[in-house]
Amino acid sequence: MTIQRTFSILKPDATRRNLTGTINAKIESANLRIIAQKRLKLSLAQAQAFYTVHAERAFFGELCQFMTSGPVVAQVLEGENAVANYRDIMGATNPANAAEGTIRREFAESIEANSVHGSDSPENAAKEISFFFSDLEIVG
Ligand code: GDP
Repeated sequence: MTIQRTFSILKPDATRRNLTGTINAKIESANLRIIAQKRLKLSLAQAQAFYTVHAERAFFGELCQFMTSGPVVAQVLEGENAVANYRDIMGATNPANAAEGTIRREFAESIEANSVHGSDSPENAAKEISFFFSDLEIVG
């Protein structure tokens, strides 16, 4: 059994539609514990730094604008195989390709406004968690 942590963001399209609790219920029913959570409005500089790996992509500017267009909820999730488990319940990036029952299939508005972010590896999870949270803010 590998207990892991992953990093999650409920994106501005989700907070705008008041879906924080609905999505959190899906997270918790997948046996992921929300061990840290805060609502914040990203600055453009924070969004650009967070998505720096996508800096060369054509959609980088739009993505950063979108991520700063409203509040987000940053979270640390803990559970067995948390990284892969959360990616599974999130669904594919493009909601048109996301499996039935996934968060993105159910709630995403578009490939960009796709409701949630989840780390794609344990290494990135550790980096992303420390970008947003201090150890004191994480209560496992
Ligand atoms: P993820 O790991 O499933 O979130 O997908 P990626 O790491 O490839 O992309 C990061 C985020 O960029 C996605 O979650 C979307 O919000 C956004 N994104 C991805 N592809 C596109 C695209 O083709 N156009 C736009 N506008 N945004 C995109």
